[in-house]
Parts: sequence; C-alpha cells; structure tokens
Amino acid sequence: LTPVPSDLEISRAQIPKPVDQLAEEIGLLPEELEAYGRSKAKVRLSVLERLQSQPNGKYILVAGITPTPLGEGKSTVTVGLVQALSAHLKLNSFACLRQPSQGPTFGVKGGAAGGGYAQVIPMEEFNLHLTGDIHAITAANNLVAAAIDARMLHEATQSDKALFNRLVPSVNGVRKFSPIQISRLQRLGIRKTDPASLTPEEINAFVRLDLDPSKITWQRVVDTNDRFLRKITVGQASSEKGQIRETGFDIAVASEIMAILALADSLEDMKNRLARMVVGTSCSGQPITAEDLGVSGALAVLMKDAIKPTLMQTLEGTPVFVHAGPFANIAHGNSSVLADKLALKLVGQDGFVVTEAGFGADIGMEKFFNIKCRASGLRPSVVVLVATVRALKMHGGGPNVSAGAPLPREYTDENLSLVAGGCCSNLKKQIQIAHLFGVPVVVAVNVFKTDTQAEIDLVCQIAKDCGASDALPCNHWAQGGRGSSELAQAVKEAASKPSDFQFLYNTEMPIVEKIRTIAQRVYGADDIELSPEAKSHNNCFSFTHLSLSHMPDKKGAPTGFVLPIRDVRASIGAGFIYPLVGTMSTMPGLPTRPCFYDIDLDPVTEEITGLF
Ligand code: ADP
Repeated sequence: LTPVPSDLEISRAQIPKPVDQLAEEIGLLPEELEAYGRSKAKVRLSVLERLQSQPNGKYILVAGITPTPLGEGKSTVTVGLVQALSAHLKLNSFACLRQPSQGPTFGVKGGAAGGGYAQVIPMEEFNLHLTGDIHAITAANNLVAAAIDARMLHEATQSDKALFNRLVPSVNGVRKFSPIQISRLQRLGIRKTDPASLTPEEINAFVRLDLDPSKITWQRVVDTNDRFLRKITVGQASSEKGQIRETGFDIAVASEIMAILALADSLEDMKNRLARMVVGTSCSGQPITAEDLGVSGALAVLMKDAIKPTLMQTLEGTPVFVHAGPFANIAHGNSSVLADKLALKLVGQDGFVVTEAGFGADIGMEKFFNIKCRASGLRPSVVVLVATVRALKMHGGGPNVSAGAPLPREYTDENLSLVAGGCCSNLKKQIQIAHLFGVPVVVAVNVFKTDTQAEIDLVCQIAKDCGASDALPCNHWAQGGRGSSELAQAVKEAASKPSDFQFLYNTEMPIVEKIRTIAQRVYGADDIELSPEAKSHNNCFSFTHLSLSHMPDKKGAPTGFVLPIRDVRASIGAGFIYPLVGTMSTMPGLPTRPCFYDIDLDPVTEEITGLF
C-alpha cells in the first residue's frame, strides 16, 4: 500500500500461519517443538543431534555502516532478504535475529522486528515478552546479586563454625557436602569429602569467600531504561546490620548471562560458563565465581528454557529464530550461536541462513567474526553491508540527526556531495573491514522514500569502486520480499564463490596486542594509550556505536587519533575481555518524550497501538 501503513498495522493485517504448520514445513518433528500460544514456539536442541550428518547451508551476515541514532535497517534488511530468498528465489532460508530489549522498545529507538513489509510477526509478541528469555536472565542475574549480598552479611555476622554448620547442615546426624561444595573444596586444593575431617584452617577457607565489597563487579539488572538505578546504595535496612554498599543496575541485556546465552553451544556448555562467571574478588585478590557462591546449578535451572531458540515467521511466512540479544557495546552484540547452528541444519546444503550483527560493522561484525565465529566454528560466506543515504549524508558532513526531531533539509533534498563524502569515508572503511576478514561484501542500499535515483546510483557506484562484489538498492520496506529480489540474487551469486575467512588476531597474542590490532586495523587509530587502571589488569571492545572512533561526534572514518583505553574488564564465563573506551553507560536513560507516550491498549479489542 502507498503510503506504507505503520509497522503495527502491517503486522496485524497478516495472520501468521500456525507455528506447528510452520514447523512441519521446515522439517521439525512435533516432539521438537514447545508451543507458546499459536504463533511462536521454542525449538528443542535435540534437533542438532538428529540432523548431525546434514551439511550446513550458506551463512550470510548482515552488518551495517555506522548508523544514525535512528537505526539504518539491519533487521529490516535481514527480514527482507530472507523473504526474497525464500518467496522469490524459492530457496530454503531462515533469518536469525536478536530479541530486543524493552529498554529501547519503550525508550527511543522502538522495537527490532524489522519494519514496513519486512517484519517478523506478530511484532507485538516479538517486541514484548516473547517467550520470557530476558525475564529468565533477569531472574538468574539478580539471584547472583542477592547471593553476594546475603553471603557477605552472613560472613560478617557469624563465626566459622556457625557458617559451616549452616552451609553443611546435619541431616539425621550426618553432614554431607553437596557436589557444588565438593567442587569448591577441590578448587581450594582440599581433596576431602568427609566434612568431619576438615581442619579449622580448611573450614575457614571453605566458609569464607571474604568478598572485598569494593571489588564486586556484579550488578543487578532490569530491562528498563531506568537511569536512576545507575548508582544505588543497598543494605540500608537495620536488618542488614550496617552492610551498606554502593552498587548499581545495568539493563538486563548487558548481563553477562545474556552474553553466555548467545555463545553457549549446549546446555552443558552454558552450565559450565555460568559456573565460571566471576562476581568479584576476595580481600586476598582471588576471583570469586558463581560456583563459589553455590548458585550455578540454580542459574542453569532458571535458564534451561531460555537456551532454546524461539521460532517465529516473517510477514511472508519465512522461518525466523529469535534468540539472545547481548548489549553490543560491552558484549558481542550478536544473536545466538545455537539459533544459527539449528537454522543452518534446517535449511540444508542449498539453503541460506541470514544472521544479523548489532551496531555498525566495525563493532558488531568485528565481534561476530572474532568472538562468535571463533566460539561456533562457523564461517560466513558473504557480508551484506546495509547503507542508507541518510547515514552516508551524516558521515559526509550533514548536520546531526536525532530521534524524535524532524530531519534537516540536507536529508530530505538531493545532495550528492554529502552522499559521496559519506561513501568515501565510512562506507569505504566498513567494506575494507569486512575484507580484512577475507569475506566478500554485497552493499544493500536500504531505500527511503526521500532518496533520489542519482543518490542511490552514486552509492552503488562508489561501493563497487571500493571493492564490494556488488551493490544494489533494496525496497523490501515498501514492497516486501519482491523489493529485494535483486539483492537476494546478488547474495546467492557472491555466496557461490569461495571465501577466504581469517581471524584478525590469534588467541595466543598478548591482550594489549589484540587491543592494538583491533584499534589500528578496524578503527583506524594511530595507536592505543592504556590508562593506569587498564594497565593494572593482568577482546571485545566497549565502544560508542555512533562513530568509528571513541568520540560519537566524529563521523565518517576518523584517522589521526590515539584510542584511550580507560579500563579492561573480563567476562570470564562468556569468555572474552573488553577494553572500555571513553565513557560507556550500561544503563540507558529515558528521553523527555519516550516511545511509551504513544503505546496503548484497547481494553475491548485488546489491540495494542504505538509500537514500532
Ligand atoms: P537496525 O536494525 O539497523 O537498528 P531497523 O531495521 O530496526 O534498524 O530499522 C529502524 C527503523 O527504521 C524501523 O522502525 C524501521 O521500520 C525503519 N525503517 C527501516 N527501513 C526503512 C525504510 N526503507 N523506509 C522507512 N523506514 C524504514
């Protein structure tokens, strides 16, 4: 329709096929499905075992140029491309998307189901609670936080003996260690299984985690942009006996548990990673883990359903996995390894799986390759790099763009010199970054209604001059899959050629060298400068997504800067370290007029309005 109706109106006008029918179409057995209502279902991991000998399909990554704060349509292109591959080229295809956080859904940016005629439906379910994975992460994360504070209180107020008697209670006159306690004893070097045989020194070491309150790195989380929780004081009730300390909340998707969910490749792997998570340091400098707190088994229980990807569908009935959505600036910003692996088996050798990396290609794609592909062993055939005329104009020197404000004239009128400026800086640099990894690039120009033909042609021409295998406009937002059939054809052709994938660094390289390699080769920095705090620590970059540098206002492809590394943090359970560059909030705030002003429910029809 012209004009294109709202995302929600389009989503609501299409009745999704029943999820069991969709599952049958893609070769799932009824017992491999756990339905959540009519249109979404979790898929059991046993599928991987059943299809073990099935060759994988082609693996396509959608990444973007450095975006404006409005988003440039990576999710929309991912959905449009699978719609085109499936309905128009008749190829088995699957999209793998991240689950959106409710922070942006109710805050500034809106949901992440795609948009226009390239969406996952029902978009309300996609953007709201889905199948509860983020709630499970919140519950698990906050159980760890509660365990930390309670443990510190108990250690501060009880003798070794009292603690031991409570931690290892006597049942019918017999004390027995639980398996998790035996594993803690082993880590302490105490090879005993009979509680009665422990010496007083061993009891002391066993019962006292002796957490240093100033070295606790674990924060509480909530899936709301609640800026007032960035820094809080806990333990103020008299019952906490003066155990007051400053801590804070992160947005739920910034939890290490989310990063683990996205990288785990089995229930066992997830359980081991959860156990290894470091929550802080003891007064003697020893790392304290979730397993030391005795909570790791309970975390696995809370997360046992979250590990199964959720099956949904596009407007045109193509299958979609929605699974995980780690914060891209302190974690790796990519959907789950398991969803990609399942989808690659389900599409078969000639099929296509299109997965999406968060943020710009410099952040999301770099982490996709160096972290996610390293963890999964999967190798992508093609990168689809999403560009928009508006973001290119911004990189070419156009005025700032902000959510909620009307676009300045430079963006609504033809302006070829701004477009050329953005292409020769940011687009060129992002193509070069993909080539560093040896993967061919197809540039997808996500067409907006204000773009002129001359502007679109210019982007495609410069992209090809910069080494892209192909560059095409795509119109799936306005036309659905048929608007991207040429893109699908180009992706199919690029994927048929051999790709020469390589990592940017090997795991043996010293941490500082890894950081320097990424800073120089990906971000274009001259060098790095480690703060004393960062140096004191014994790669995953924590960065603004709005620039290729650490300065959000520097658009295009900045050069001639030294990247200041403020600190280096570790996500031991997830398995990466992340240097902090500049200031980076892990709890976004709400603007004066958040999206929630427009979100409403009709109590009679139960229809939701205002989501986008
Ligand atoms: P990203 O994944 O890059 O953050 P999205 O795919 O979520 O971006 O798109 C951001 C917003 O822009 C969505 O609300 C979407 O509906 C809208 N959008 C995307 N492509 C177009 C287009 N070609 N024309 C108009 N709006 C679009």
